[in-house]
Amino acid sequence: MTARRTRIIEEIGLGPRWRLRARASAARALPQAAAGAAPLALDDREARIARLDWAALRAQVARCDACPLSRTRTNTVFGVGDEQAEWMLVGEAPGAEEDARGEPFVGQAGRLLDQMLAAIGLSREANVYIANVLKCRPPGNRNPEPLEVARCAPYLARQIALVRPRLILALGRFAAQALLATDASIASLRGRVFEYQGVPVVVSYHPAYLLRNLPDKAKAWEDLCFARATMRDLKARDSAQS
Ligand code: URA
Repeated sequence: MTARRTRIIEEIGLGPRWRLRARASAARALPQAAAGAAPLALDDREARIARLDWAALRAQVARCDACPLSRTRTNTVFGVGDEQAEWMLVGEAPGAEEDARGEPFVGQAGRLLDQMLAAIGLSREANVYIANVLKCRPPGNRNPEPLEVARCAPYLARQIALVRPRLILALGRFAAQALLATDASIASLRGRVFEYQGVPVVVSYHPAYLLRNLPDKAKAWEDLCFARATMRDLKARDSAQS
């Protein structure tokens, strides 16, 4: 570990607390609910969205009025980062600062996220793509409603299909639920590898939750290390096959 990384880790409060646990094997066996995340039949709207390129998708999100959140948002929050990234992070929904600026994870939770990513050599400027389940802010930062998630889901699905990441890190309950079609708790999903449309998915806590539950930062760090180890395994497997 470089001195810079050690300093970052200490700054985000992980210094002496975390230990690399024995690497959980990248379990390929999926619980039935998670394995069944493939869409059933595509309706017209979903099918159209599934064919859009980046520019058209971005434009469609910007003018979206498919749910009531379009009436209360300031800006849509599309996504940010490297559109060919190997890493994709999926959060929940924009908060007040994201709504004001039109970019995901730019508030306090975002700053924590950026610091944690930096600790493993990742950043939105270089090698990560970041998107949310919802592209519009729920008023007062309330939880997303099922209808809102359902109407926004095709956008996230298309973003994932366009980025074609090697690994998705789902941050928090709503991201895990949306990608894995499960109601299971984050605690029970951590440390395993699931799949969304053939893309491996690792689950961790949402950074906003970590700001309220500081002791769980150590677990989030374990999850990042697990994700990093999974990425290494995936790359090794792919290069052995080529
Ligand atoms: N929380 C999220 O899930 N996404 C954001 O963009 C900001 C906060």
